[in-house]
Amino acid sequence: MSNETAKVKLIMDLRARGIRSTAVLEAIETTPREKFVSEPFFDQAYADQSLPISCGQTISQPYIVAYMTEQLGLNDRSLVLEVGTGSGYQAAVLSKLCRRVFTLERYRTLSMKARHLFEELSLRNITTIIGDGFKGWPQQAPFDHIIVTASPTKVPKDLVEQLALGGVMIIPLNQGRGKQALFKITRTQNGFEQEKLIDVRFVPMLEGLARERKV
Ligand code: SAH
Repeated sequence: MSNETAKVKLIMDLRARGIRSTAVLEAIETTPREKFVSEPFFDQAYADQSLPISCGQTISQPYIVAYMTEQLGLNDRSLVLEVGTGSGYQAAVLSKLCRRVFTLERYRTLSMKARHLFEELSLRNITTIIGDGFKGWPQQAPFDHIIVTASPTKVPKDLVEQLALGGVMIIPLNQGRGKQALFKITRTQNGFEQEKLIDVRFVPMLEGLARERKV
């Protein structure tokens, strides 16, 4: 199957699986996932699966990207923080649906690669930052939306404090025994409301910057 055919099928599958937002489906349709996967997986770019990328990390499954994006409830004024740039694919999708995306990554290699792709694709409202998601990005806080694409065992306190009033965070929490679930956290006048969504599988969220060999 060509990537073009696979893409048409993917969009139909996402719709069948319950992704309702046409804006989200359009953002997926207009983001060239083949640019974000590693070369050997080029012909699987539109299969609905996660794939390995550099530094032992993964590019998320399109369904999960669409689902999390839909759950964030973005609008064209939204300021979004992403934790876990990885390939940059999720950030690219977000960038089409909001005003500005700040995306944090602990691997310099991944962050630089993503930054070059954003330039190539003229996605000018994404700012890449090499940093630790546990600390968030206080310089630009508060954020209307925070999306975490690596899995911690509990909600990082400094990060959730950077959510604006009325803001929404989507985060995959590790619940032990290899189980993870997505949670939606909303900041209200009275604190934080938490809702459990679907089961997922993400790479772990790790503290501090990654140590990388100098090349
Ligand atoms: N959103 C990505 C998925 C990336 S996988 C995509 O669309 O491709 C999760 C990423 O989170 C990995 O690249 C990992 O290095 C990063 N990560 C893990 N812990 C982190 C932390 N504390 N701060 C920033 N990034 C982190």
